[in-house]
Amino acid sequence: MIVDRQGRRFRNLRVSLTAACNYACTYCVPDGKRLVAAQDELSAEAMARGVAYLVEAAGIERVRVTGGEPLVSPKLETFLGSIATLGLDEISLTTNGQLLARKLPLLRAAGIRRLNVSLDTLDPDAFRRIARGGDLATVLDGMSQARACGMQIKVNMVPLRGQNFDQVLPLLEYCLAHGYELRFIELMRMGHLARDSNAFLQQFVSLEHLLQMIGEQYEYLQANAPVDATALRYQIPGQGYFGVIANESVPFCRTCSRLRLSSTGWLHGCLSSSNRHYIGDLLDKPRHQALPALQGLLVKALGDKQPVAFSGGATVMKIIGG
Ligand code: SAM
Repeated sequence: MIVDRQGRRFRNLRVSLTAACNYACTYCVPDGKRLVAAQDELSAEAMARGVAYLVEAAGIERVRVTGGEPLVSPKLETFLGSIATLGLDEISLTTNGQLLARKLPLLRAAGIRRLNVSLDTLDPDAFRRIARGGDLATVLDGMSQARACGMQIKVNMVPLRGQNFDQVLPLLEYCLAHGYELRFIELMRMGHLARDSNAFLQQFVSLEHLLQMIGEQYEYLQANAPVDATALRYQIPGQGYFGVIANESVPFCRTCSRLRLSSTGWLHGCLSSSNRHYIGDLLDKPRHQALPALQGLLVKALGDKQPVAFSGGATVMKIIGG
């Protein structure tokens, strides 16, 4: 097992199945242009082989499928079918929910029981302004159908000053009432926001500010979370839970166990580093040749992790998969 001096190792793999997305969220991408040509992306089979090799070489235990938008990818079914045979502790998926209702049978058949659905507002106008694609009612319907067939749902919201901060309490109330766990994600200095500090600072909402607003309406207690969890978790007694991924306010680099694989075959050991390591060429090689080379790249990827705090990164989330 590859472990660094801080005792960190890779346990959780995020796979960006495709960089293509049917949204163009303002904080994720500057515009809706395609960032990666389809022919430069790996096939479903190659990506699944990559996951299998990473399970062996790094000790990956859990995989989260993300993107881009994973549900728009024609590779989804083949990819999920292949990684379902790897004996992973868990396979989960992050989606914007636009195609969720339609893809539910496929997701259930692949053994997925936990979904993160990104939803930044319940106001249809603000939804269109932020996501620049999709339709709010379709997402809400998809979540409700997923819950009805037993899926556990976490809702991801990025609170943004001047855009959806007024939606923090309505969305929390909605999630508590529907049995979804709301996760607030502090805005991260990724992609264009890493270059434009003003745009970042104008929109950023801190953990403190968020909790102050929630505290005006709800009594909450801090709840326990696993050591390598990225989210701080809170309980509203008798009503449910919410979480905050406070990358800026309470950095969690010291316990980070995440590794990322892009749809074009690059490994990223840290969101906050521009280093990446190409494994696409290893995926055609037999196991005995691929694994030693992969181990060397994993040592480098682990070395890319920040010691303490996230400081931003030039990579666009849509490419690396959040
Ligand atoms: N299309 C899927 C979705 O919408 O959930 C998966 C990909 S999306 C890049 C994954 C997550 O990253 C979303 O919850 C999104 O809100 C979040 N995200 C993107 N850019 C971000 C940023 N600059 N700061 C914080 N979260 C960001």
